[in-house]
Amino acid sequence: MTEINKQDFTSKLSKIFSANGLSSYLSLERMEKFYTLTVRMLEENEKYNLTAITDPDKIILNHYADCVAMASKLKKGASIIDVGCGAGFPSLPLAIVRPDLRITAVDSTAKRINYVSETARMLGLDNLTAVVMRAEDGGKSPEYREKFDYATARAVAEMRVLSELSLPFVKIGGQMVAMKGKNAEFELFSARKAIATLGGRNTLCENITLKGEGETLTHPLIIIDKKDKTPASFPRPFAQISKKPL
Ligand code: SAM
Repeated sequence: MTEINKQDFTSKLSKIFSANGLSSYLSLERMEKFYTLTVRMLEENEKYNLTAITDPDKIILNHYADCVAMASKLKKGASIIDVGCGAGFPSLPLAIVRPDLRITAVDSTAKRINYVSETARMLGLDNLTAVVMRAEDGGKSPEYREKFDYATARAVAEMRVLSELSLPFVKIGGQMVAMKGKNAEFELFSARKAIATLGGRNTLCENITLKGEGETLTHPLIIIDKKDKTPASFPRPFAQISKKPL
């Protein structure tokens, strides 16, 4: 059983969110949900290999504040597909702080999706549905193709590959929102042909900086507008996407 003092946890959560201008996303009920999520994630970590970060303070900064920082970019009532959600990032924090969103969390790993689905049920998040699916299959299926206002992704693949996995899900007028690492600008430069081929335009790369207790986290957020339909030949099978990125 993972012992986390609830009062300490909620006070750290509120302090870190407040230091980063995110306190409007918290309420007593949502803090309780973040606490329950943390206890459950750490308890199930061994079974499902969910996170390398196990210190609650770091979880608040690196998982929760990091994901909630993109919430202001998403319009009210939007539909979202979270591509390669793993343990539910950014989908679970977004579902907690934005009940108006309709989120489909997708991953190719059944055990992680079972965990995300059961966690959403435990937390009463009826705005989140978790689906076991390979993104390149979903992007071809009429049920999912060009059906979402946003495709989000954190730490899934480099931009050329990620664009082919994500942009097919986005409606014209929607956006792909990618939480990236340090090489984002270079990746974005290499992916400009892929993005244009897949119907994307007007890429924006913005640095998100978050303050924790004694540490600062900075990473780029890439936002791409979907302006044209993705040609029917994309996404290709994964072997082709990864061996011959656009
Ligand atoms: N987004 C989560 C996060 O930030 O913690 C998970 C990141 S993890 C490094 C990458 C995830 O993407 C894995 O769970 C993997 O199964 C999933 N993934 C990779 N390629 C995928 C694909 N083609 N379709 C669906 N999921 C994929």
